[in-house]
Amino acid sequence: MTRVTIVGSRGRMGRALLAAADTAPEVELVAAVDAGDDLAAAVDAAEVVIDFSVHTVTASLADRCAQSAKALVIGTTGHTETERTQIAHCQSRIPLVWSANFSTGVNTLFWLTRKAAEILGPAFDVEVVEMHHRHKQDAPSGTAKTLAEILAEALRLRLEEAARHGRHGFTGERTTTEIGVHAVRGGDVVGDHTVIFAGRGERIELTHRASNRETFAHGALRAAVWAQGRPPGLYSMQDVLGFS
Ligand code: NAD
Repeated sequence: MTRVTIVGSRGRMGRALLAAADTAPEVELVAAVDAGDDLAAAVDAAEVVIDFSVHTVTASLADRCAQSAKALVIGTTGHTETERTQIAHCQSRIPLVWSANFSTGVNTLFWLTRKAAEILGPAFDVEVVEMHHRHKQDAPSGTAKTLAEILAEALRLRLEEAARHGRHGFTGERTTTEIGVHAVRGGDVVGDHTVIFAGRGERIELTHRASNRETFAHGALRAAVWAQGRPPGLYSMQDVLGFS
């Protein structure tokens, strides 16, 4: 049994996690906290803390977990560069499982995207399109950013230079060294991601569509069980699933 605390428990993902924990025999839920609750006590009660709150919470939570020697599963997205650096700093003290997406299907999409980019190479133009519900705060989604990072790595491009976030106005012809990233918002869409590989006379599209949040919740709980007792370090869902 892994004793877990859920941070952000009243949110959309928090509620999905509570429901998933209820039916997960290998997990014991010891605390569920949201804004205004006693975070320190909740961290101390757990072996592994799962964060699905907001990006501004994660860095101080990671520090708190490091002080108490608790593993941390990070589900929040949209961190600033400074926050990312602060969070990553804790990897020398505790296991951090950090993934923009905990679904098995999306992690398979990550793997397929890398393979397709390696096979097709620079002759194919690559674009990432994501769609999420109207309440989503950050854009593009963390998953779309991860997909763009994978494409940049496989195609040996620097993402800071290659990324084109939406296009507007007189953009000129598309170059072969750009990665388009497009965020669509509306309704109650849980999360759709498509990677397009457009070549001469043919096009491949890899699409994942999440129809509910269960997949993320079950993946995060699986990551928590996996993280318990691991040496300190920075891990991803790819490690949890044995893809790396
Ligand atoms: P949400 O807005 O529904 O929930 C966030 C919750 O965090 C709210 O209940 C809010 O009150 C709470 N919160 C705010 N400040 C807090 C604090 N200081 N301490 C504790 N709780 C606090 O958002 P959501 O849709 O549930 O998404 C949460 C996060 O998870 C977002 O960053 C989202 O992008 C991310 N997400 C990640 C995955 C994944 O697989 N990694 C999947 C879905 C969503």
